[in-house]
Amino acid sequence: MPRQSEALILRTYPFHEADLLVTFFTRAEGKIRGVAKAAKRSKRRFGGALEPLTHVVAHWEEKEKQELVRLDSCDIISSPLANEVTYPRLVALSYVAEVIDQLLPDREPNDDIFRLALAVVHHLKADSIWMPLTYFDLWIVRLIGLLPDLHACVMCGAVLNGSKAYFHPLADGLLCQDDKRLASTEISADSRAQATEMFRAPLNRLKSDPWTRSRGADLRRFLAQRIERHIEKKLVTATMLERI
Ligand SMILES: [Zn+2]
Repeated sequence: MPRQSEALILRTYPFHEADLLVTFFTRAEGKIRGVAKAAKRSKRRFGGALEPLTHVVAHWEEKEKQELVRLDSCDIISSPLANEVTYPRLVALSYVAEVIDQLLPDREPNDDIFRLALAVVHHLKADSIWMPLTYFDLWIVRLIGLLPDLHACVMCGAVLNGSKAYFHPLADGLLCQDDKRLASTEISADSRAQATEMFRAPLNRLKSDPWTRSRGADLRRFLAQRIERHIEKKLVTATMLERI
């Protein structure tokens, strides 16, 4: 049966000789995996529509008793490559795609995450990636249900407002001075205040300038650890982001 939906392309992999395996996040039916026939050999058929985080209307065909659908065509609504492309921005786009791909289960629509992804892609500019990335991390971790209380120690419940707070890859929340473990990392008061602000204001009301790489780096590290603990593996693109 032919189907169609607004979608974001997440990733492609070579498949057989001339095909591509495509993971795409549809608004109507959630994350779907399909085969784009001859997409590797013939660029003409899909054009630039299969680049990560291209916003498209996808047309596909379900096949009975088969997990993979047949992706027939994609009409581009907007391409992230239409704006200036820099290496940091490309890595940031790949990171957003990888996190969504890893966190979302197959075939479960999630309109909040779809709208979050669209807004973040729109705000990822060549020279300012860190604010939208921090916003993305915070919100996706919250929407998936992985965000602990940022104002209390997960061990003893002590209120952390105004006092130092720490995180650790094996702790499920923030830790107070007394409960921090060996090799814990401090999360700054500025980052925690930033998180509070990002839950209050939409992305287009937040200032992305001047946001250096170091601003919010502790918060992003903490959130990436939440994601990695949940998916039980490292995010490839998180390591790439750290090296920018
Ligand atoms: Zn404590």
